Amino acid sequence: MILCSSHIRSLYIYNHLIKHFKHKILLYNSKINKKDKVYIWKMIISGDPIIIIGSKSSVLIPFGNLDLIIIDNENDFLFKSNNSPYYNARDVGIFLGKYHNASIILTSDNPSIISYFNVTIGKYGLLRYKHKTNYMRLKLLNMYNKYDNNFITNNILKKIQYNVNNRKQVILYHSNNDYINIVKCTKCNKILKCIKCNKILIYYVLYNFVQCFSCKNKIYYEIKCNICQSNYTQDKLDIYNFIKINLINNYKIDIITSNNNDKNISIIKEFNKKNINIIFCNHMIFDYDIKNYDIGLIIMLNFDKYLKRPYYNSFENINNILHKIYKKLVCNNNELLLQTFDITQKMLQIILSKDYFYYYNFEIEERKQFLYPPFCKIIYIELIHNNDIKLKNAIQYILDNLITQIDNSNQILISDNIFLKKIKNIKKYIIMVKIYFNSTKKLYLAKIIIMSNINIISNKYKGIKFQINVDPL
Ligand SMILES: [Zn+2]
Ligand SMILES: [Zn+2]
Repeated sequence: MILCSSHIRSLYIYNHLIKHFKHKILLYNSKINKKDKVYIWKMIISGDPIIIIGSKSSVLIPFGNLDLIIIDNENDFLFKSNNSPYYNARDVGIFLGKYHNASIILTSDNPSIISYFNVTIGKYGLLRYKHKTNYMRLKLLNMYNKYDNNFITNNILKKIQYNVNNRKQVILYHSNNDYINIVKCTKCNKILKCIKCNKILIYYVLYNFVQCFSCKNKIYYEIKCNICQSNYTQDKLDIYNFIKINLINNYKIDIITSNNNDKNISIIKEFNKKNINIIFCNHMIFDYDIKNYDIGLIIMLNFDKYLKRPYYNSFENINNILHKIYKKLVCNNNELLLQTFDITQKMLQIILSKDYFYYYNFEIEERKQFLYPPFCKIIYIELIHNNDIKLKNAIQYILDNLITQIDNSNQILISDNIFLKKIKNIKKYIIMVKIYFNSTKKLYLAKIIIMSNINIISNKYKGIKFQINVDPL
C-alpha cells in the first residue's frame, strides 16, 4: 500500500503509477463509491497481489497479508484527523506495517522532527537521496512601519493590483484570525472611511489616529460621526473583507474556508478557469488541485504570527506549510513574498537557510530543554458539556485521581494548562497530560491509568463527552 495524506495526492500517485502496473493497482479514498470499495475488499480477501493507493481511511482496510507499506510525505500534517477520533494515519500505518511484519518506508523531502529523531536513535534506518529545495523565488517583504504593526500596506495592495492588471492571479495565504484595526460609529455602526477616496481607514492604535492607506490622509479619531454625531469606537475587520471592500471594484475575489468543501471546490474550479483574480486561503488550499501557471504572486500575510510559537511544534508546522506552498504553488512565473516585521529574526533565518540539519538540531535541542515530544508524549483529555460546574467538578476529579497515581508510578505529569474553547453553549475544557517515559511498557501503563480514570468519571458525571487526542498537532 502507498498511503497518502489526502485524496488528491492519492489520485496524483495513482495516475502516475497506473501506466506501469495497470490492473494490479487500485485507488482507495473517500471519493470512490461503495461498489469500488467492495471490489477492493474482495480483491484483498482473495489474496491476489495488488497495490493499493490510499488516502487516510485506507489504514482501516482489513488487510490479510500486507507486505509493504510506503507512507508518502510522512511529515504532512494532513495525516492527522481534525475531528474525533483524532487518529494520525501515518502512525496507524506504521502500526499496521508492524502488525503484518511488513516493510515500512516513510518518504519525505522534509522529514518530521520525530521521524528524523527515530533515525538518530537507531529506531529507523535512513536512505538518503540528494535533493534540492529551491527557494530561489522567495522574497522577504520587510513591513517595518514606524506607526504600527498593521500588515496591509499600500505596497502590498499595489503589488496585488499590478499582478491583476497584468492578467495574473494572486494568492493570499493568511491565518483565520488576521484582523485590521478600524473605527466605527458606536450608534449607527458605520465604518469610518476616507472622504477623498472612500477607502476604509486603518486605525493606528499606538498613535491614536486613523489613516487612509491610499492617499495617506490622516485624522485623529476624536471626531464625531458625520451622520449621527455619536462617538467612534475601535473595532476589527477581518483582512479578507478589508481587502474586498478596499480594492478596485471589478476584481473577482473569493475565499477558501475550512468548513465549506463544496463551495471551495467550485471556487477552485473558477480560479483555474481564471474567473477569479484573487484567492484568500489557509492550509485548506493544499486539499485541492490548483493550477499555478497563471499565479503571479503568493503572499504569506503576517508571517511573524507563525513564528511566535504558541505551541511547541509551531515552527515545524510553518516549515511544512512553506515547503508545501513551494511545491504546490510556486513556479517559474511567480514569486512568493513572506511579510515580516523583522527580517533578522532567528526562525526566519533558519527557514531560509534551507539547512535541514541546522533546523532539526535547533528544534530538537529546544524540545529536549523544555520537555516536549519526542522527549515526552502529550495527551489531551477533552471534556465537552454545557454545564460549567459539572465540567469543573469532573476536571477536579480527574486531576485529584491522576495526581495520586503519579506518586505511585512517577511517570505522569499533568500540566495546569487547562484551557477552554467555547462553541455556542457548549464548553470544551482540555487537560494536557505530559507523559515522560523511557519504555513502551511504561507508556502503555500510563495510558491504561488515564483510560480507567475516564471510564470511572464518565459513569460518575453522565452526559459529559470525552475525547482523547494523542499527539495533538
Ligand atoms: Zn453614526
Ligand atoms: Zn484616502
